[in-house]
Amino acid sequence: MNPAAPKTADQNQVIAPGGVIGILGGGQLGRMTAMAAARLGYRVHTFCPDRNSPASHVSWHNTVAAYDNKSALKAFAESVDVVTFEFENIPSATTEYLAALKPTRPKPNVLYLTQERLREKRFLASINVPTTKFLDVARMEALESAVKALGRPAILKSAEFGYDGKGQVRIDGDMDLFEAWVKMGGEVGILEAYVDFVREISVIVARAPDGSTAIYQPVENQHKNHILDVTLVPARISQAVAGRAEAIARHIATEIGLVGLLAVEMFVTHNDEVLVNELAPRPHNSGHWTIDGCITSQFEQFVRAVCGLSLGSTERHSDAMMKNLIGDDVSGWKELLNDPAVKLHLYGKTEARPGRKMGHYTRLSPKAGGRNGDDRR
Ligand code: AMP
Repeated sequence: MNPAAPKTADQNQVIAPGGVIGILGGGQLGRMTAMAAARLGYRVHTFCPDRNSPASHVSWHNTVAAYDNKSALKAFAESVDVVTFEFENIPSATTEYLAALKPTRPKPNVLYLTQERLREKRFLASINVPTTKFLDVARMEALESAVKALGRPAILKSAEFGYDGKGQVRIDGDMDLFEAWVKMGGEVGILEAYVDFVREISVIVARAPDGSTAIYQPVENQHKNHILDVTLVPARISQAVAGRAEAIARHIATEIGLVGLLAVEMFVTHNDEVLVNELAPRPHNSGHWTIDGCITSQFEQFVRAVCGLSLGSTERHSDAMMKNLIGDDVSGWKELLNDPAVKLHLYGKTEARPGRKMGHYTRLSPKAGGRNGDDRR
């Protein structure tokens, strides 16, 4: 054994049904994971700084504490059999601390690489995965030359703590750069060339501790105000593009040493190039349709991967459309319930703030042909 290797709990252990899954984070992704975990006989213990979190309503136990609260983390680790996370903005020191005590899946390095945009893009470049052109903008003063190099329009993003379009500014022809920097709000920025894409797609891949993988067919995502609005299944792309997108997702999952789920968001360009935009090492909003449209939902697949069980079939039995209910959209719940083709999912959030994901619905339709999507290896 390498004496310099960090001390970690047994990372190959199988967690049998009846065990306790510890989840860092308490949002809707944790909530839907807890529901899938319960179906397989597991209990979920969430760790989240907020009281009354969506996941807490359906979990066996909840710790409400800050992510750097060592004594709360220690007690949490003692009460669970495996640790995972449902969002990226968790200090890496937290997952490193927990990984020394209990199997932590995905491993802390996966979180570290994907929680900062520059680090993520450099990692992708190092494994020959094509991304959008980007430049690092460490200070406001560097923005002008970066914009000159990449041209307008370009997108300035906060390197850290960005999600759902937060910390993003599109720099158009007449946009003042000082204003853009202040609006972005982060300490370090990344400037990306604007991609005039034909479609945005995503692929979700699961990988188990033994290296086996299962992949969901690419889906098409439409955004409003930088937030996912609609997912269409299947994506309107050629077999060749779909094959390339899946190969990229599998390659990243293997190279990063994933155990769990990885969502890979991509742009498809006019020349059928596939460029990776962003990674998320957890269940993803563009996979919510799998609850209603597939044999194994992304949430069950996540539980299977994290617990070291065999991966389930990713076969879909229907075509699907998933629509997010953002902010006040949720007030339409009565009409949605009256539509027999709609499956409604609400997250138990009481306050419908603008931009807040309150729920989603899936509309299924008969499969229009093509392959069924089950792709386990
Ligand atoms: P992100 O937070 O990076 O996933 O960005 C949210 C959304 O903003 C994406 O899904 C795209 O719709 C849009 N977007 C982000 N980066 C770019 C880019 N470089 N070019 C064009 N659109 C982008």
